[in-house]
Amino acid sequence: MTTSTHQSAAADRRPITLTTTGGIDRASHHRMDEAWLAAAWSHPTTRVFVVSGGQALVEDKDDGSTELVMMPSFDAPFTEAHRYFLGIDGDGVRYFALQKDTLPGRMDAIARPAGLREAGVLLSDRDSELMVHAIGLENWQRTHRFCSRCGERTVIAAAGHVRRCPACGAEHYPRTDPAAIMLVTDDQDRALLGRQVHWPEGRFSTLAGFVEPGESIEAAVVREVAEEAGVSVGSVEYVASQPWPFPSSLMLGFMARATSPDIQVDGDEIEEARWFSRHDLRAAIESGEVLPPSGISIAARLVELWYGEPLPRPLGSA
Ligand SMILES: [Zn+2]
Repeated sequence: MTTSTHQSAAADRRPITLTTTGGIDRASHHRMDEAWLAAAWSHPTTRVFVVSGGQALVEDKDDGSTELVMMPSFDAPFTEAHRYFLGIDGDGVRYFALQKDTLPGRMDAIARPAGLREAGVLLSDRDSELMVHAIGLENWQRTHRFCSRCGERTVIAAAGHVRRCPACGAEHYPRTDPAAIMLVTDDQDRALLGRQVHWPEGRFSTLAGFVEPGESIEAAVVREVAEEAGVSVGSVEYVASQPWPFPSSLMLGFMARATSPDIQVDGDEIEEARWFSRHDLRAAIESGEVLPPSGISIAARLVELWYGEPLPRPLGSA
């Protein structure tokens, strides 16, 4: 296939969802400057959106685009505590997110709540970048209200990016849990895809797992593939990363090469794993036997990188 290099390059250029940069400067040096933050908050061009439970309001526009619903700060719901400064765009507009227990109602009923899994593929690069930052902070803030050192209730600081303990003085920073996600190939260039026990019927995807304390990310790739599929891996090559704030992961994507094709699934996390040639995978997806990984995940991009072009869709699907 003479076009494979070209197709691979095209697949290579397609951005990974939730990683596109929309021109927001996080301007972290302002986070500790209360006077600057107060002035930025009250500036008329400042834009604010509300996050609640992993969702924000979005609005589908007549031109087919979808936007985050943002408002000037004087229209924003009152909150002093949970105000996150997200950054500044190229035009000098400052962005804040407010974390509330509920999303605000709107008179026009055009806006609707959406989570990142949906909005991440609909929003502009700028809006997606803002939302993934805000949701990541919200997830961390919600679950880290007490000091892990002394147990005292902590207070928010640094415009949402720190929690400080008034009792022992500890500062706690947003937590990110690294996870390895890997497409394993064998010496026939087949891809190893597995099924997690709780996945919908037919879903196959890359293997993945969390990095353990004291472990390199490359060692985690080798260990997870051995544990889940019983496959030994030799070379491990880093590809790209993806924030995955569900609730707080950073997916680190790899291509890995198996040293032997023998499969022995753990039956606990992975119930089935198979080697697919490109031809096998195309046929299995087109027949509906296999559901490929969902489009938002870096798993889909890793499979596409190997496949050489966007994955086929089941025949008869829209
Ligand atoms: Zn403490």
